[in-house]
Amino acid sequence: MEGDSGLKEKDLLIDYDLIIIGYGMVGAVAALLALKYKLKVAVLEIRKIDDLYVPKAGRIDAETMRIFEQLGFFRKDFKALYGSKILDSKGRDLVQVVHEQLNGFAPMYSIYQPDLQLELHRKIAAQKDKFGIYEKHRAEAIELKKDRVKIIAHDLQKDHFFELSGRFLLACNGQESLVPAQCDFNYRLLDYTQFSLNIETKSLEPQSFNQLAVSYLDGKYPLSCISDSALHQRWEFRLDPDTMAMPDVYELIRKELDKKIKGDFEILHSFVYQFETRILDKWQQKRIFITGDAAHIMPPYLGMGLSAGIKDVYNLIWKIELVADRRVKGSVLDSYQPEREEEAKHLLDLNLTLQKLFDKGGMSIIDRILTFLGIGIVKKIRLESKCSKGIIGTRHKLAGKLFPPFSYMKHTKLISEVQLFT
Ligand SMILES: Cc1cc2nc3c(=O)[nH]c(=O)nc-3n(C[C@H](O)[C@H](O)[C@H](O)COP(=O)(O)OP(=O)(O)OC[C@H]3O[C@@H](n4cnc5c(N)ncnc54)[C@H](O)[C@@H]3O)c2cc1C
Repeated sequence: MEGDSGLKEKDLLIDYDLIIIGYGMVGAVAALLALKYKLKVAVLEIRKIDDLYVPKAGRIDAETMRIFEQLGFFRKDFKALYGSKILDSKGRDLVQVVHEQLNGFAPMYSIYQPDLQLELHRKIAAQKDKFGIYEKHRAEAIELKKDRVKIIAHDLQKDHFFELSGRFLLACNGQESLVPAQCDFNYRLLDYTQFSLNIETKSLEPQSFNQLAVSYLDGKYPLSCISDSALHQRWEFRLDPDTMAMPDVYELIRKELDKKIKGDFEILHSFVYQFETRILDKWQQKRIFITGDAAHIMPPYLGMGLSAGIKDVYNLIWKIELVADRRVKGSVLDSYQPEREEEAKHLLDLNLTLQKLFDKGGMSIIDRILTFLGIGIVKKIRLESKCSKGIIGTRHKLAGKLFPPFSYMKHTKLISEVQLFT
């Protein structure tokens, strides 16, 4: 027998509580959180799992670390970061962005995404009776029913189509996601496209470990560096398309790295990434939710795109469990977008302000004037920590949990205050 979609009955597979499209970091965190709530979860991922371990994000914020503690990752195993600084052409501090600490959490932690992702996947795989992973499967179309969402999945290896059904759907499939278009949602484009060349290095001799992410103004291109340890660094070169097309670009980049890294080093990964800065007008259609980069993409100045995505799914999963278990009304799910959107917009604005300083050469102009005048200046921008206020558990099952329980993350406004202190 064939249904509306022309699929045979055997192709209608198991019914899940939650279907997740995309097994990037946000999809993986969503899956593990949902499994902790005993939901039956399926994930569809276009790529082979082994191809997912790419070091995109280099740091997470304190609230995200708190979520990881609930998932069995502990802050003592991560390097704490206290903010960022911009060095002038002479290597002196020009600007520092320092985040305040709260609840014993450092403002940020550096991560090596492939290791974290692998560990997440291991924890998920340990619960295989409740979990279905469809790798090399593309979610082609979705159909919203009264009490279900149906997904047409395409098995790319066998070139076979089938239907999956779930009570809720999370689109965690990044900036290429077609789910917003299928739901008739629109992006607000913030008119900013960027190329970034990311390079992970492992040096043979220890470098001076920096607890601030460092941006340099002394080279040919804007460059930032985050240290994961004294030996392991991630470098982000912001390049325009013309520079990227130059035949000797990699030689130039290598020379820049030679200047910055003491002794010999190995390049572990390098990749070019291009993105537009944008945010969706709607993040939800009934039981379909758009999360992470599928909902908002930010420039990499402050990073925080990953942290924002993880907080999106953290905001949702416990509510989905309560609704799935019929303990609360479905309308509680409508709080998702209003609660998450404000922070995403704020981060986008903050990132774009920093982008203007870099791209319009604002920092280099200040740098040149100050060098000419022979004076140094440090602007210290303090950001209030957003690690939720309250008492946070530290041990075993209580780790990372805020008391009283069920007080889900409320957005506290980021306050940025500019202080001139020299
Ligand atoms: C250079 C750079 C540096 C960054 N640094 C930071 C940082 O320091 N801190 C930070 O917080 N953020 C940072 N970010 C942002 C962060 O990397 C992203 O916000 C985050 O990775 C987004 O995760 P995601 O799971 O939403 O999307 P993705 O990682 O893009 O995952 C989406 C997944 O969905 C799959 N998929 C797509 N379509 C389908 C489909 N139809 N069916 C099935 N599967 C599908 C894809 O194959 C992919 O695996 C950085 C980004 C870049 C590019």
